[in-house]
Amino acid sequence: MPTMHNEVRSFNPYAMAVQQFELAADRIGLSEDMREILRNPKRELIVNFPVHLDDGRIKTFTGYRVQHNVTRGPAKGGIRFSPAVTLDEMKALAMSMTWKCAVVGIPYGGAKGGVICDPKHMTIGELERLTRRYATEIAIIIGPHCDILAPDVNTNPQVMAWIMDTYSMHKGFSVPAVATGKPLSIGGSEGRNDATATGVLFVTKRAAKYIGMPLKGARVSIQGFGNAGGIAAHLFHEEGCKIVAISDSCGCIYDESGIDPAAVLRYKKERGTVVGYPLAQQLRVSDVLEVPCDILIPAATEGVITAINANRVQARIIVEAANGPTTPAADKMLYEKGCLVIPDILANAGGVTVSYFEWVQDLQSFFWEMDEITHRLEVMMNRAFDRVMELVDQYHCNMRLAAHMLAISQVAEATQVRGIYP
Ligand code: NAD
Repeated sequence: MPTMHNEVRSFNPYAMAVQQFELAADRIGLSEDMREILRNPKRELIVNFPVHLDDGRIKTFTGYRVQHNVTRGPAKGGIRFSPAVTLDEMKALAMSMTWKCAVVGIPYGGAKGGVICDPKHMTIGELERLTRRYATEIAIIIGPHCDILAPDVNTNPQVMAWIMDTYSMHKGFSVPAVATGKPLSIGGSEGRNDATATGVLFVTKRAAKYIGMPLKGARVSIQGFGNAGGIAAHLFHEEGCKIVAISDSCGCIYDESGIDPAAVLRYKKERGTVVGYPLAQQLRVSDVLEVPCDILIPAATEGVITAINANRVQARIIVEAANGPTTPAADKMLYEKGCLVIPDILANAGGVTVSYFEWVQDLQSFFWEMDEITHRLEVMMNRAFDRVMELVDQYHCNMRLAAHMLAISQVAEATQVRGIYP
C-alpha cells in the first residue's frame, strides 16, 4: 500500500489502472492467463510527424493511439491534445474505456489517443494541419469498424470534423462513423454535447435515492467548467440543486447560498476564466474539493483527490465526471468514511453511450430525435448503475471495485467464448 507522500510523488496513471484491475480480478478469481491478456493493451502506436507552423518553421510532434482491447467490438476512445500527454496516460485511459463500455453494455473495446502539444499556443491553421497529419499517421489502425475516435481534453467537434474529412479523403468517399462528437451537419448526434453531463445527472439521481438524500436543494461543488463540468453545473442547477462552488484551472469561486451557472458562463466567455466573478467569494483552486457540499463533481483532470486531501472532502457523494480523479489510497479513505464514490467508468459513461448512438445512426444513415436519445441514455445509465449496486450489496465493496468486477467479467467471458486464435 503506497504511503501518502509516496502516492502523490509516484502517481502513474497506468500503474493505478493496473492496480485497480488486479483488485477486481482478485475478487472475481480471474486466472493469471486471463489477467495477462486483459491487463496489457492490444496495440500501442507511437507516431512522430512534422507540421508546418505559421512562421515558416517545421515542428515535429509526438502522438499516440492505444487500443486496449477489441474483444467485444471495435475500439472506441477520445483524442487529447495537451503538453501533459504520455504513453502511460493513454494506456490507462484506453484500459478504462474498455471497462466503461462493458459496464454500460455497449459493444466496444477501449482506446485512447493524443498528441503532445499546447493547443492554447497554436493558431487554428496549425491545429488543423496537426490534426490532419496525426489522423493520417494513425489511419493504419483506425476506421468505423476497428477504432472510432471522439473528442477529449482540448479537442472538439471541429477537430472531429477534420479527422472525419481526412479519413474520408483517403478513402474517396465520406466515412462519418470513423469519429463521433462531430458537428450535426456531418452526421453528429443530437444530445452528444450534453451527454456526459446528462449521464452524470442520471447516476447522481439514482445514487441520491440509494442513500436517501433529496436532490432538490443539495449543495454541489464542481471542479472544471468545460464540457463535462460546465454543462453539469447547468443541469444540476435546473434540477433544483444549489451550485455552491465552481473552479477552473485558474481558481475557484464559492457562495454557500448558490451560484447561477449561466451568469458564470457569460462571465467566463468574456474573461476566459471564472476567477473574479463578482457575485461569489474567491478561493484557491484546490478548495473546490474541500468546501462544505453534499455532492462533489470532479470534472477536470486525474489524480486530484489523493491521500492528502481525501479526509477533507465533505461531500456524501462524489460523481467522477473526469477520468481517474481519485487515487487508490484516497478511494479507500473515502469508502471508510462512508462517502459514496460513483466511479468514472460508470459516472461519465454517458459520453461514450451517446457516441455509440451517433455511430449507430451514422452506419444506418438514419437519425433519431432528441427524446429518443435521452430516453435510451437514461435506461442504459440506470441499468448499469443498478447492476453495479447489486454487486456492491453482494460483495460489500465500493462502487469502483464493483464496476470493475462487472466490466472485467464481461470482457473475460467474451474472451473465453471466442477462444484463443489460432
Ligand atoms: P474541457 O477541456 O472541456 O474542460 C476541462 C475544464 O477543467 C476546464 O474548465 C479547465 O479550466 C478545467 N481544469 C483543468 N485543470 C484544472 C485544475 N487543476 N483545477 C480545476 N479545473 C481545471 O474537458 P472536458 O471534456 O470537460 O473533460 C473533463 C474531464 O472529463 C476529463 O477528465 C475527460 O477525460 C472527462 N470526460 C469528458 C467527457 C466528455 O464528453 N467531454 C466524457 C468522459 C470523460
